[in-house]
Amino acid sequence: MVAFSMVPFLGTVRSTPSLTSLAPYKRQISIRISPVSFPRNGFFPFRRFLQACLQSSSATMDTREKLPAEHSEIIFIGTGTSEGIPRVSCLTDPVKKCLVCSKAAEPGNINRRRNTSLLIRYGRPSGRCNILIDAGKFFYHSALQWFPEFGIRTIDAVIITHSHADAIGGLDDLRDWTNNVQPNISIYVAERDFEVMKKTHYYLVDTSVIIPGAAVSKLQFNIIQEEPFIVHDLQITPLPVWHGRGYRSLGFRFGDICYISDVSDIPEETYPLLENCEILILDALRPDRSSSTHFGLPRALEEVRKIKPKRTLFTGMMHLMDHEKVSEYLENLMETEGLDVQLSYDGLRIPVSL
Ligand SMILES: [Zn+2]
Ligand SMILES: [Zn+2]
Repeated sequence: MVAFSMVPFLGTVRSTPSLTSLAPYKRQISIRISPVSFPRNGFFPFRRFLQACLQSSSATMDTREKLPAEHSEIIFIGTGTSEGIPRVSCLTDPVKKCLVCSKAAEPGNINRRRNTSLLIRYGRPSGRCNILIDAGKFFYHSALQWFPEFGIRTIDAVIITHSHADAIGGLDDLRDWTNNVQPNISIYVAERDFEVMKKTHYYLVDTSVIIPGAAVSKLQFNIIQEEPFIVHDLQITPLPVWHGRGYRSLGFRFGDICYISDVSDIPEETYPLLENCEILILDALRPDRSSSTHFGLPRALEEVRKIKPKRTLFTGMMHLMDHEKVSEYLENLMETEGLDVQLSYDGLRIPVSL
């Protein structure tokens, strides 16, 4: 627990209760889930929706079908590295043509990627709850594209992996929601990252500096530890990882889905938390090698072989990752090794059981 009674600011801060006493999380996802393809018009029952998912292994972009509110799904709000894809400098290069960025510049192209972010739409009998992982620099543009597309209205919580700009740069843009949709948004953040927010977004933390009438985001900060916590009835287990030497980032496990978007090394003590993983969403920056702060594809694949999830989707890709080419390579791994590994893409929507 962190005592925040001494903190001299007016923004709301709550300590999150420890859940170490809870039994290990053992709920199973009951079906093999694939990217979906289904008709645009009309409602049809959940069973048929899942059948459609089971029948389709191809990654398609048709995303408008609505799930019943008691069912859960995840939506990839962004799958690209910090700089975004395409790079502006690739498009203005007078000498060298970057094939991936040229493709990504076309509207609707699958190589177009914004900052990594995932929306968990947690279905409960009382209605679906929208839990966002990270709101980075390009959050506004992602939300502009995907929220109307998927009929997403509220943001019920934001969970923060770490405090780099591509994870927290969009906190200011949450003002649209707290001014026009809902009174406030709960932010779940590790103390070290909250300390960064006190500098980068000081006016969202210490609201006493705000000129009366200025309509900034109204955020409630909840400090999380490296142990399970509950967000709107959903248990979230932090997955501590290294994101560069000496710099900690958090992945998150919910149900049997593990999300690790920014990682250069996984500490031994985190592996037990990854056991019996149904869907692993894992950092893979570039096709050839790792960087000092991110897994490259070879290392990411090594980890997949070690963790043995049922299915893996890579995220956080830079412009060197050509969706079509890398996907072809990954398909071969299914044939040669039985590895179910794919690239995610912005707007990918997967029904899940939580
Ligand atoms: Zn490029
Ligand atoms: Zn980062």
